[in-house]
Amino acid sequence: MSETQENLQFDVIIVGAGPAGLATAIRLAQLAKQQQRAYSICILEKGAAVGSHILAGAVLEPRSLNELIPNWRELGAPIVTPAITEQFLLLTATNSFKLPTPPQMRNHGNYIISLSQLCRWLATQAEQLGVQIYPGFAASEILYDAKQQVIGVVTGDNGVAKNGEHKANFQPGMHLYANYTVFAEGSRGSLTKKVIAQYQLQNNSDPQTYGLGIKEIWEIPAVQHKSGTVIHTLGWPLDSHTYGGGFIYHLDPNLIALGFVVGLDYSNPYLSPYEELQRFKQHPHIRKILEAGRCIEYGARVINEGGLQSIPQVFFPGGVLVGCAAGFLNVPKIKGIHTAIKSGMLAAEAIHTALQQSEKLTNLTAYSQALKNSWIWSELKTARNIRPAFQKGLWFGLAYAAFDTYILRGKAPWTLHNKADYKQLRSASSCKPINYPKHDGTISFDKLTVLRLANINQSADQPPHLKLTNHQTPIRINLKVYNGPEQRYCPANVYEFVSNPQSQPYLQINAQNCIHCKACDVKDPTQNITWTPPEGGGGPNYINM
Ligand SMILES: Cc1cc2nc3c(=O)[nH]c(=O)nc-3n(C[C@H](O)[C@H](O)[C@H](O)COP(=O)(O)OP(=O)(O)OC[C@H]3O[C@@H](n4cnc5c(N)ncnc54)[C@H](O)[C@@H]3O)c2cc1C
Ligand code: SF4
Repeated sequence: MSETQENLQFDVIIVGAGPAGLATAIRLAQLAKQQQRAYSICILEKGAAVGSHILAGAVLEPRSLNELIPNWRELGAPIVTPAITEQFLLLTATNSFKLPTPPQMRNHGNYIISLSQLCRWLATQAEQLGVQIYPGFAASEILYDAKQQVIGVVTGDNGVAKNGEHKANFQPGMHLYANYTVFAEGSRGSLTKKVIAQYQLQNNSDPQTYGLGIKEIWEIPAVQHKSGTVIHTLGWPLDSHTYGGGFIYHLDPNLIALGFVVGLDYSNPYLSPYEELQRFKQHPHIRKILEAGRCIEYGARVINEGGLQSIPQVFFPGGVLVGCAAGFLNVPKIKGIHTAIKSGMLAAEAIHTALQQSEKLTNLTAYSQALKNSWIWSELKTARNIRPAFQKGLWFGLAYAAFDTYILRGKAPWTLHNKADYKQLRSASSCKPINYPKHDGTISFDKLTVLRLANINQSADQPPHLKLTNHQTPIRINLKVYNGPEQRYCPANVYEFVSNPQSQPYLQINAQNCIHCKACDVKDPTQNITWTPPEGGGGPNYINM
């Protein structure tokens, strides 16, 4: 902290300019406008621009956007590719079999979009309503008052060297105070994690669980492009004990959004989600789509998989959690944008009522109640048992999903439970190494090659943002027991175990490669790694993700 630190006061601070944070701001500003009032609303975004850290598939279910901005078409929202046809495929190494598309995965009425672009457009809508958006500013600490109520956040200092000295461009962080603080950081938010721990918001019998989604965007020749096609796959290249699958979306103009999600409850430490994506692209069914194209963008992000039973208490003294920070993703649908927007709207309505009623902070229990009365809750309730059933393997999971969907119609009188992902890793000595094929340089690539397509811009001369609680643990436990799984689950080559004849093996952390996916924070087997925001504006610069 420095004496020259700036202090600012707002009605509401929102951490994160994703769909949840932007919808919160827009709805609040709309409600104020209806009463000819204006709230001071500030959104902090750690990406250099809105959208630069946003990654999704993405197929958009427009239900909540229709509620938030009914005339989005006339206003020119970047939503131009309707989902027309869909396929749900079970892959073997050389073949593919069409499965009946389950109702959750039907996409009639939905759109294939770039969520980065949609967020940039939502940001312009918010700004037109008077919302102040600060891209390039990461919220790095939470401010509490003497009664332990959240009263705002602190943004990180900029211009600090690795050794802690201030550089010529040093700028101290700002203290931002608000009546209400909204955490909209998305999946595995760094401040959200703190606030959940501070107020014990999470039910420990159902921890949040995650998958890691790694995505590429390809440009392909027009003759091969089938605009509006949505393909989901299960099976190969994963074994039947590992949850995950691929997606391929044809979006205009001539783009393919392609990715692979691996459940982070996988047990074999030799597994590399990145290499699974590279193998996936070599499947004859997928290779033929990509062969004449070129990869133009790369990124990765964790996705919530815990469902209804893992949603924490969503309010705390001084604020709320919205969107994937709370975990409102519908796993069988692989969709969370519509619930993120809706939860932001409901949070805004509760905050608006509270701001009108009292100058003092009140607990926003009305938000929690509104969620339970909304379609978010009924949707997530119906879906709640499908993902946990896959803990028993692909075949059991598929059979259970069919039984739950078609016979029980989501109304089972039981709820299956979730287990923490980091506890699922087995020792390397009890698992078989996986031999991944060599990259061919046309369809499959090494990490450093595609990492250039994430357009990362992060100074290496800054204090480490990937914090190790114990510096011996990576060698003593991670390397010895698990054969260094972080070198494989990190999709950006950040973690490298280096050994040479002159020194003992050590963990080298290439922090400037980090693309903010948060997989290390989730999967590290001893929870020794804590992800914190680097200098604001650092990290990837996604354009079409
Ligand atoms: C591979 C993949 C595929 C997906 N496919 C689909 C799909 O097809 N359809 C669908 O509906 N959903 C999909 N999702 C889910 C969807 O991306 C999320 O549900 C949605 O983005 C959640 O919105 P959010 O606003 O809660 O969080 P995010 O979209 O994650 O936005 C959070 C924002 O907060 C910022 N932020 C975080 N921490 C801080 C901080 N401390 N300070 C400042 N800023 C911060 C981030 O930079 C980011 O901009 C997919 C997700 C993944 C990973
Ligand atoms: S260091 Fe962690 S957050 Fe960064 S890219 Fe690697 S796994 Fe993701």
